[in-house]
Formats: sequence, C-alpha cells, structure tokens
Amino acid sequence: MLKVVDLNVAYGSIAAVRGVSFDIAQGEIVAVIGPNGAGKSSLLLAIAGLIKPRSGAIEFAGKNIASKQAEILVSEGVSLVPEGRHIFGSLTVAENLALGATVRRDWPQIASDTERVLAMFPVLKERYRQRANKLSGGEQQMLAIGRAMLARPRLLLLDEPSLGLAPLVVNQVYQAILDLRQSGVTVLVVEQNVSRALAAADRTHVLSFGAIAMSGKSTELAGTAAFDAAYFGVSREAGRA
Ligand code: ATP
Repeated sequence: MLKVVDLNVAYGSIAAVRGVSFDIAQGEIVAVIGPNGAGKSSLLLAIAGLIKPRSGAIEFAGKNIASKQAEILVSEGVSLVPEGRHIFGSLTVAENLALGATVRRDWPQIASDTERVLAMFPVLKERYRQRANKLSGGEQQMLAIGRAMLARPRLLLLDEPSLGLAPLVVNQVYQAILDLRQSGVTVLVVEQNVSRALAAADRTHVLSFGAIAMSGKSTELAGTAAFDAAYFGVSREAGRA
C-alpha cells in the first residue's frame, strides 16, 4: 500500500528525515515512535503531500506520489489527522465532518459514511449541531478522525492521536483505530506514547534524529534490551540536547 524509499526531508539546513525507508502492507497498522523532534511529523507531512521531500520516493498503491499535492492525494485515498487536530472550532460537528467529504461527489455514500462515523463515535452524534470548540480534547480527536474517514481513505495517517488525552479517552481512540483496520483501512500512526503504539501496531519503527534506529514486529520489540536502548537511549540523548 505504501513504500517509502530513502526519504529525506529538510527545512533549509535542518535535516528532519534522513534516509528513511519502510513499507506498509494493505490492512496493516504501522507505528513510528520517537521523542520530540525525531522527525515523525515531518515524515507524515511529506507522505501526505504537505511538504516536499528533498529526495527519495514515496509510492502509494504502486504510484510515486512524492511530488503530488495534498488535495490530490486526499482524493486518491491518503488522509492525514494532523497533530493538534486542526478542527474548525466555530463550525459545528456536522460542518467539520462535511469538510472531510469535499473531495467526493457520491452523496448517498457520504450520508452512509457519516452515519458510520456517528455510530463509531456516538458522542459526535449527541453533539452533531454543536460548535466544535465546545468539545473536549478527546471529542475533538474523534471529530478529526471522523473528518478524515469521510474522505474514504485507503491510507490513514495519524499524528500523535493520544496527545493530551486521558487514558480512557485514548482507549476509545485506539479502539476506533483498530475498528478502522477491521474495515480494511491501512494505518500509519506516529506516537510518543510508546505502550499505546506497540499495543496497536503490527510493526513499529523507532525514529532517532530523523533516521530509523530500529524496526520490528511490535510484539517482538516490546521490553527487549535492544528496544530500550534504541528508544530510551534516544530519549535520554534528546533530553540532554
Ligand atoms: P514532535 O513530537 O515535537 O512534533 P517530531 O518527531 O514530530 O516532533 P518534527 O516536528 O518532524 O519532529 O521535527 C523534526 C526536526 O525538524 C526538528 O529538529 C524540528 O525542530 C525541525 N522542524 C520541524 N518543523 C520545522 C519547520 N517548519 N522549520 C524548521 N525546522 C522545523
């Protein structure tokens, strides 16, 4: 579904992503974890077409998408739930959800997909006509995921979906991510919440200073000395920097 080859992203002289390669099969959940500044958001933004990579290839469903515009990618099935959610507070829940479907013209299916999102997140149904700025952080995260779902993604990119949420709400958000996978959506999630990422993802990559330091099946990485060295060693170095 997705193949990233030797990807480099830079902001002027700052290298944010350095030679990253990985792939994701259809229906997989893959996590990229790493501390602040490791390059996780830059990686997602490049895949979503929101920043242009300096070099490297990004293939989605067999086509190179590295130079495509974000709005074209949304219509082709790549949706991003950005860090901080970026929902429109002065618009209602209904209007925010509708914005997710602006790339589509299949009205009857948009209506049934909206029903599906409301069934997945019943709180959004209760608050359907309320302004989004009245929602809690967890509800806003659900709205952001729901909005991305309305673009009918084949690949969903999630940037730190657990950020700032209470553990019970994080459970709900991750349950929704697992449900989406059940419905055939492929998921790439970046997280600082290591235990959540490892619990949900089939495979996990540890990003350190823009490069992949370690990769493996999540069940095999968790708790190993090599993983602790790759992730927590990285965190300690980042803390000292
Ligand atoms: P966080 O969890 O804090 O969002 P991250 O792992 O997502 O961190 P990025 O946000 O991708 O990391 O940042 C990677 C590097 O690129 C950091 O050194 C960061 O300071 C730098 N960076 C990110 N965005 C910009 C920008 N717009 N201009 C300049 N440098 C940037």
